[in-house]
Amino acid sequence: MIYLNGHYMPIAEARISPMDRGFLFGDGAYELIPVYSRRPFRPDEHLARLVHTLDGIRLANPLSLPQWRAVIEHLVSGNQGEDQSIYIQVTRGADVKRDHPFPKGVPPTVFVMSAPLVTAAPELLQTGVACVSAADNRWLRCNLKTVSLLANVLLRQEAVDAGCAETILFRDGFLSEGAASNIFIVRDGLLLAPPKGHLMLPGITYDVVLELAQKHGLSYEVRDILEAEVRAADEIWMTSSTKEVLPVTTLDGRPVGTGKPGALAVAMYSWYQDFKRTVMRGAES
Ligand code: PLP
Repeated sequence: MIYLNGHYMPIAEARISPMDRGFLFGDGAYELIPVYSRRPFRPDEHLARLVHTLDGIRLANPLSLPQWRAVIEHLVSGNQGEDQSIYIQVTRGADVKRDHPFPKGVPPTVFVMSAPLVTAAPELLQTGVACVSAADNRWLRCNLKTVSLLANVLLRQEAVDAGCAETILFRDGFLSEGAASNIFIVRDGLLLAPPKGHLMLPGITYDVVLELAQKHGLSYEVRDILEAEVRAADEIWMTSSTKEVLPVTTLDGRPVGTGKPGALAVAMYSWYQDFKRTVMRGAES
């Protein structure tokens, strides 16, 4: 069951016009909310990020916060699986003609679906994952989660073509993030995270990782990270709602640190799994 413009229906019955601006221009916003044991994780934070994106692209938020929560709850209970991912997309709607400026009097298209939540296999902690790097050639508003993802798609494909898990992006000599993840590094026992800003998406998992670092007394710094620091790092981690926390063990074919998952990656992974068990599946909503 999905939600489309005020109605719940099977996905096979859902219809969107080819004139939809999401299709024609990539003119829209999206969010992905992981659901554990039928409990959406930090829905308010995800919805705040959606509202931030909608504000950033001058698209009025079509639903109130309680309405969004109700749609999410309805889909979580109406779909199978204890763990799901709720995908939300809002576009600037379908006009009768193709024209760049905002259409007048056209309602937005609001689509929400549930899919099984597929997280990284635990075995990956033993090996880590391989990554390639590329110049970050996306636009300068990477803090917005917009459906115009062509640059991310092309960059991520570079990793797939090389048999790797992710493409790590550098802009003007500094680390920004992955094509679909945030990136952290460890140097001399210190965890480093690039600062939030218009050059990267503010990940909800990024926040969790820094909270867990704080809670467990792992020192960290949030600051600009040079590409050279990444290439000389003892550890590199990638994080996202679906990848969770994954150690990167090779970058562009060269080993990261010892070439094996580092001690702090292993520690963070286990703190994260513990957090998932106790908080995500437990009392917090
Ligand atoms: N950066 C980009 C470009 C992403 O697409 C994503 C998630 O899809 C992230 C970072 C991680 O965000 P989150 O931790 O909220 O999943």
